[in-house]
Amino acid sequence: MSTIPAPKAQLDRLAKLGLFTLDDLVLHLPLRYEDETRVTPLADARMGEAVQVEAEVVSAEVQFRPRRQLVCRMQDEAGHELWLRFLNFYPSFTRQLAPGKRLRLFGEVRPGFFGAEMVHPRFHVVAPGASLPEALTPVYPTTAGISQAGLRKLVETALREADLTDTLPPALLKRLSLPGFSECVKLLHHPSPEYSAAALEDRGLPAWQRLKFDELLAQQMQLRLAYAARRAKGAPSLLPLATLTERLLAALPFQLTGAQQRAWGEIASDLAASHPMQRLLQGDVGSGKTIVAALAMLRAVENGWQAVLMAPTEILAEQHYRKLASWLDPLGLPVAWVSGSQKKSERKKALAAIASGEASLAVGTHALIEDGVEFPRLALAIVDEQHRFGVRQRLALRNKGGAEEGGGGGEARPHQLMMSATPIPRTLAMSYYADLDVSVLDELPPGRTPVLTKLVSDGRRDEVVARIRAACAEGRQAYWVCPLIEESEALQLQTALETFERLTTELTELRVGLVHGRLSGAEKAEVMAAFSAGQVDLLVATTVIEVGVDVPNASLMVIEHAERFGLSQLHQLRGRVGRGTARSVCLLLYAHPLSQTARERLKIMFETNDGFEVARRDLELRGPGEFLGARQSGVPLLRFADLEADAELLDLARKSAEWLLKDHPEWVEPHLARWLGSRRELLKV
Ligand code: ADP
Ligand code: MG
Repeated sequence: MSTIPAPKAQLDRLAKLGLFTLDDLVLHLPLRYEDETRVTPLADARMGEAVQVEAEVVSAEVQFRPRRQLVCRMQDEAGHELWLRFLNFYPSFTRQLAPGKRLRLFGEVRPGFFGAEMVHPRFHVVAPGASLPEALTPVYPTTAGISQAGLRKLVETALREADLTDTLPPALLKRLSLPGFSECVKLLHHPSPEYSAAALEDRGLPAWQRLKFDELLAQQMQLRLAYAARRAKGAPSLLPLATLTERLLAALPFQLTGAQQRAWGEIASDLAASHPMQRLLQGDVGSGKTIVAALAMLRAVENGWQAVLMAPTEILAEQHYRKLASWLDPLGLPVAWVSGSQKKSERKKALAAIASGEASLAVGTHALIEDGVEFPRLALAIVDEQHRFGVRQRLALRNKGGAEEGGGGGEARPHQLMMSATPIPRTLAMSYYADLDVSVLDELPPGRTPVLTKLVSDGRRDEVVARIRAACAEGRQAYWVCPLIEESEALQLQTALETFERLTTELTELRVGLVHGRLSGAEKAEVMAAFSAGQVDLLVATTVIEVGVDVPNASLMVIEHAERFGLSQLHQLRGRVGRGTARSVCLLLYAHPLSQTARERLKIMFETNDGFEVARRDLELRGPGEFLGARQSGVPLLRFADLEADAELLDLARKSAEWLLKDHPEWVEPHLARWLGSRRELLKV
C-alpha cells in the first residue's frame, strides 16, 4: 500500500475525502466531465451552458460598486463581447488580464448587466492557435483546499505509480464479459476523445459496470469472511432436549403459526451447532416474535445454561418481562428483571441471582450491559428491535457471556438472536446483512383483521374525537400519539401534557392516561399496566409506545401531526392496533403545508399495510445510508453501486464471491486490499 507523495497539510485534506493511498486515488472516480476539447464561438454559446471560449482582453478594471470586484471586457475574433466578473482575485490577475492578452476561458455564460458575462471562469493565457486537450477534463469530488487541478495531478501520479494489476481472474472477466481494471480506471480518469461526457457519466458504461462489480464483490467477500470467522468460534451446543420447550408449547393458549414453527426449527438447529448462531428473526409487527424468543431461551435453560433478552425501552422490556413471566412462572422458572429505573436493592438482588446462576433467565434494558452484570453461563443473547441499538451495545451484550466451556475449542461465545420488525428489503438483506442468517415470520397469527388507515386533515379533529368516544363506548381502547418534536424534548413533553389536558376535558366520560419519556420506569409501568388491564380507555402517549407494546383490545390509533414521523415509525405505531379480532383503524392527522416527502410517506401508509412494502419504499425515499442507521457504523456504504439499480450485479458479485473464496482464495486478499484498504481495520467489528 503506497502512500501519497504530498505535504502533510495536503495529506490531512485528502484524508477527509477518505484518500490515504495511491490505490484510493485510483478509485477516486470523476463525478462528471467538462469539455475543453473545443472552443465555442461566443455567438454560439447558449445562456446557462458551461463552455470553453477564446477571446482577447479589451479592458480590465477594479470597480467598487456594489462591492470590490474585477471587471474585464473581452472580445472574440468575430467581434462578440463577453464580460468577466471576479469577486475574489489575486494581484497577478491584473497582469494576466492585461489588454491584448488572449485567454481561454471555461465557465457558464449568463445574462449580465452589460451583456453576456461569466462569473469566476477558469482561465489561462494562450498563444494564438495553441493546441487543445484531446480528452474531456474530469471533475472530482473534492473538499476545501484541494483544487481540481491538484487532484488531477495526484490522480495522474497514482495511475502511473500504483499497481493496477487486475484482481479478478481472467476466467471470471471473460465469463462476465467485463473489461480489465487498468483499462477501466484509465478510461474514466482521462477518457479518450471519442467519448462524450454523457456517455461517460452513464453508469451503464462497461467501465462503470466493472468498477461497480468490483465494489460489490469486495463487500460480499468481506461479509462472507466475517461470517466464516464467526463460525470458527466455539459456542455451547444446545441439544433438542425439549423438556421445558415442550411444556411451554403445551401450555400456550394458541398454536404456533407455520412461520413460527419454521423459524423456531431454524433457530433450534443453529443452537445445536457448536459455533455461535448469528440470526436475525424478522417479522412484521404483531407476527409473534416473542414466543419464538421464549422457546429459544428455554432451550438454553433445559440444557443447563442461561439466556438473556434485551429491549431498547423500559416499556418494551417490561412488557417482555411480564409476558415471559406469565408463560414461565407456571413452569417454576423465575425470570430476573434488570432495568435502570428499578430500586437499587431490587437490582442488586436480580444481579446476584444472575451471577450465582440461580436465575437462568433475564430480561431488561441497556442496564443489562452496564458493568457489574455477569452471566456465568450465558448461552444465548437476544436483542429485540436490534436496529435501535448500536453495534457496540450489541457486542457488549454478547461479551457478557462467560461461556468458557463451549464446544468447538478456542474462544467460546453465546449464540445471538436479533429481532426486528423493520423488514429488510431483499437488496439490503443480500448486501449489508449478508453476514447474518435470517428467519422470516411472513404470516400473522390467525384472526387478525388488517388495520384500516385513513388520512385526516387536522381541521377535522372534532370528528376524530367523536370516533374515540364511539369506540370506547363499545368497550374498545384507543391510543393518541402526540406530535414528534425532534428539536426539543421539553417542547415535546409540554405538547403531550397539553394534549392530555385537552382530551381529558373533551372526553369527560373516559378514563384518560398519559405516558411519556420523562416518567420514571415505575410510573410508566403503572400506566401501561392499567391500560393493559382495561382500566384506562384512552392512552395519550409520545413515541415511547412506538415499539412492541401489545394490548389486543386497543383498536383505534390516532397519530397527530403524522407528517412529522418517519415511515418506519408510522408503521410501528400503526402496528400497536390490529392485534385483536376487532376491526382496527389508524387515523393519521396531518397539517398543511405538506412537504413532498411527507406527502409521499402518508400516501404509502394509506396504500399498504405490508411491512415489507413500507420498508422497500422507505429505502427508495431515503437511500441505504439513513435506512441502515446504527448498522452503518460497522459496514461501509457503497460509493458507486446502487443496490436497487444494480441488483443484477449484486447477484453476480455474491455468486462470484462464493466461488472465489471456495475455489480461488488466492485472489481474495489483493481484491480486498485494493477496495477496502485503509478502512479494513474499521470493519473488523
Ligand atoms: P411481535 O412480533 O410484534 O413482537 P408479539 O410477539 O408481541 O409480536 O405477538 C403479538 C401478539 O400475538 C401477542 O399477544 C402474542 O401472544 C400473540 N401471538 C403470538 N403468536 C400467536 C399465535 N401463533 N396465535 C395466536 N396469537 C399469537
Ligand atoms: Mg415485539
